[in-house]
Amino acid sequence: MASIFTRIVNGEIPCYKIAEDDRFFAFLDINPMTKGHTLVIPKREVDYIFDLTNDEVADMMVFAKKVAAAVEQAMPCKRIAVAVLGLQVPHAHIHLVPINSENDVDFKHEPLHLSPETFAEIQQKITSKL
Ligand code: AMP
Repeated sequence: MASIFTRIVNGEIPCYKIAEDDRFFAFLDINPMTKGHTLVIPKREVDYIFDLTNDEVADMMVFAKKVAAAVEQAMPCKRIAVAVLGLQVPHAHIHLVPINSENDVDFKHEPLHLSPETFAEIQQKITSKL
């Protein structure tokens, strides 16, 4: 069965899309730690990030770099934190999280609860910087 992220890429499940190319896709995390929290995934469905090919790992990070630059411009912050866990969704993904302190990137914290309008506004701000 296709992963939830493959279903997002295929348009079967809605998302707040940020960017895509032929191999990678970025969209807002639905349970954000901070405003602008974005996930970057390979379109090819592979569970564990280090099971991707060398080229895929390298090129996904270059794709993430472009997305991170747009997130940083849209959501002023000290840094874009980069994290890989992959314990919930078995489809490799990189978390990009705008942070001002290390407390902003705590996966045990209650996520922000944002309205659809706020998600759409964040999406618009980030995509306008790409
Ligand atoms: P992890 O696998 O532990 O790195 O976490 C998976 C991440 O995917 C979590 O931050 C979830 O909030 C996020 N997530 C799960 N389903 C969706 C979805 N349908 N749209 C956007 N983000 C999602």
